[in-house]
Formats: sequence, C-alpha cells, structure tokens
Amino acid sequence: MSERIIIKNGCVVTMNDADDVLFDGAVVLEDDRIADVGRTADVLARNSADGARVIDASGKAVLPGLVDLHYHTALGKGWSDHLPLWEYLETCWYPIIRALDYDAAYWAALASYSESIKCGVTTVNDMYRQLTALGDAAEEIGIRAVLSNDIADAEHDLDTLEDNKEAFHAKNGAAKGRIEVYIGIEWLPLASEELLRDARLLADELGTGIHIHLNESLTEVENSKQRFGRRPTEVAYDAGILGRNCIAAHCVWLSDTEMALIRETGTQISHNPSSNAKLGNGIARLPEMLRAGINVGLGHDAAECNNSRDLFQVMKFASLIHRANRVDATLQQAGDVLKMATRNGADALGHQTGQLVTGRKADVILVNLNSQMFTPLMPENKGHLYSHLVFAANGSCVDTTIIDGRIVFEDGQFTTVDEQKILREANAAFRRVVDRMVVPPPPNTTPGP
Ligand SMILES: [Zn+2]
Repeated sequence: MSERIIIKNGCVVTMNDADDVLFDGAVVLEDDRIADVGRTADVLARNSADGARVIDASGKAVLPGLVDLHYHTALGKGWSDHLPLWEYLETCWYPIIRALDYDAAYWAALASYSESIKCGVTTVNDMYRQLTALGDAAEEIGIRAVLSNDIADAEHDLDTLEDNKEAFHAKNGAAKGRIEVYIGIEWLPLASEELLRDARLLADELGTGIHIHLNESLTEVENSKQRFGRRPTEVAYDAGILGRNCIAAHCVWLSDTEMALIRETGTQISHNPSSNAKLGNGIARLPEMLRAGINVGLGHDAAECNNSRDLFQVMKFASLIHRANRVDATLQQAGDVLKMATRNGADALGHQTGQLVTGRKADVILVNLNSQMFTPLMPENKGHLYSHLVFAANGSCVDTTIIDGRIVFEDGQFTTVDEQKILREANAAFRRVVDRMVVPPPPNTTPGP
C-alpha cells in the first residue's frame, strides 16, 4: 500500500526554475516521490485525502530538504581545535580516524546525522571511514547519504581503493537507493599521481562519482608545487579526477587556470566558508566561480572544523563573508544562497531532490514561521521570506524533516531513533577512541638514526 502525505496551507518555497513561492500552497507526497504541488484549493480538488496523512502547515514554510555537499561524520568536535589545519590533521584528526572502529563510527554517524536532520538537512555527502557503520546508521535514521572513504597512499595508514571498492559492493544502492558510495580521496598531500589515476579508473569501473578535498589551503598549494611542479587542480585534471561526477571540496585558492579546468570538466564545487574561516584557510573566489557558470553547493565540512552542522549558519556565512571581503553588499543575495543549499547541491550529486516539483524525490522540510526569527514577515513577500531564511534563521526553525517520503523528525522528536541514547553512546565512543589514539611526536623531537 502506498504511503501518502498531504501538506496543506503552507508557504511553499519550490526552488523550481521559475523560483515560485506559493503562499497558500500544498504538496502531496506519494511513497518516495512528490505527486503534486500547487495552491491548496487546487491540490485538494485534485487529490483525495482518503487514507492520506494530512499535515496542516499553516504558519509554516515548506522547503526542499537542504543538501550538505561536503560532510564528514565527526567524533571529536572541539578537541584540539586551537591548531591550524596541517598540525590539527597530524595530531588529532588522523589519529582519531585511525583509532575508529565500527561501533565508534556508527554512533558518531548517528550523532552527526541527527544534528543535521534537526537542522533541515536531508542529504549528506559524507567522506569518512568504516562505511558499513555509516551506511547502517544512515539506513536506521533515514537520511539520504552519499558515502566515500578517506583514501590516501599506503604509508599514511588510512583507507585504500580496495576498502572503498568493498564498501561500494556492500552499501551502494542500500535503503532503496537512498545510500550511495563514491570514491573518496583525502587530499593531494597524501596522494601520488598514480593513486589519483587509479581512483578515477575505479570510479569509472564502478560507475560512481568521486569526492575529494582540492585546493583547500596555501600549504596544500605549496606542497603540490613542490611535489608535482604544478597547482592542485592541474594535477587532478591531468590524473582524470575532475568531471561532472566529481565533487571538489573547498577550491579556496583557485588560479584563473584552475578555475577554467573546473569549468571545462563540469566539476562540482562544495563551498564551505565557515570551515575555511575557522581553519584560517582563506576565502574562496565564489563570485568568480558563479560568474564562470560553475555549479557550487554548500557544505559545513565537519563538526571538528565548523563546529556546527547547522546549514542555515553556513548559508549566512556564504553571503556575509564575501560581502565583507569585497566591500560589496550586492553579492550573494538570499535567494541565490538558498539555491546553493538546495538545488545546486542536489544537481551536483545528480539527485532528483532540491526542488519541490512533481516527480522529484520527496525530501521536504517544514519551517516554523511563528517565531522572532521570522517576525516581522510581510505576507506574500518572497524577498522578505528569503531574507529571514538566510540571514535571521538558524536550524532550530525546522520542525519537520521528511526524507524519501518518510517523516523522520516531527515536532522536535525523531520517529526513527532514540536521540538521548545516541548522545550517550557518542560521548562514550569519543572517550574510547581518545584512549586508543596514537599521537605522533612533533617532527623536531623524532629520535634520529
Ligand atoms: Zn573536509
């Protein structure tokens, strides 16, 4: 029997091609698809409510679920985060993820996904380890997840192409296709050109995409020039990594040549401005990327370098940081930023989500407009609503999250998992991993031969 949900009397933000907002709108969900969208009276005339779950969205906005395009499940938020990127990676992030087991990854994933879902995120593009645990967690809580490993050259003791291949065969297509597996490359400083070429070959062999950190910091650019004689995006291009199904995270220090390579190959960019700011990595050339016609979505990156998974915060940052940097308040208008967090992210992953349009996947969130965040609100004024969603709101405005046609979060409660148990278990897992992790000594204290 098909599951039907009728959401009526809401302010429906479609993010469709015409950028329509229906101020007394309704959306019908049937199984995992959107079956109808329109004015409430018209939709109710076309669709019987018999056997349907009817949600009265009066005083609420109805939006496509948000897509977090660059994501890591996180276990060690706030731990050693006074350090700059390179030192942080060596003494905290890598030791933690090397000490990870199935159990720790599973509870870390549930803690991460539950925060995201509460903040209206319905899709995560998650690069981490122990993908079986991540896939199990995603299946259980009900989120849409694209998972990839953390592949590096063997001496770094992270994941291998073989690990990622195994994860693909174990989890790609699970939960009726809600879970996919991409090939994940940690970043160029830990990769040879041969590994990059082999990653592309494997992705093509499996018919899947690639998720990579690219041109994140000046240290990465310098490392690339020293080891390869050219800039990171040029190396990735030569190895065949770039392409329509490649999500390149960060791209902070792109030269004009690198930007042209991204554009030429149709590569997708995840812009992660709050992570870049916290880690002191700089400000990406977002206005130029968008002018070049590159598809750019938004990501929070990881709770270790953000420290929040609230994509509403990332939206605000994605506007403000560029206005401050260029001394130009015309940049990154609210509607454009909202588009990045919804349909651009969905398009980057080739997903039928990100828009409330008939036939698309039923990933929908309800936002409560009856709060100070959305007051005052001029009725039937799209610009006013968009402004509040990007500049005034935070994730606590989300009261319902529906993924693949299933209500997973409603009235502040999860329908799928025990939130308090997740918090307890994630805390315990963090302490077990900290006890187990091996932190390498700083280079100048390494005993000599
Ligand atoms: Zn990252």
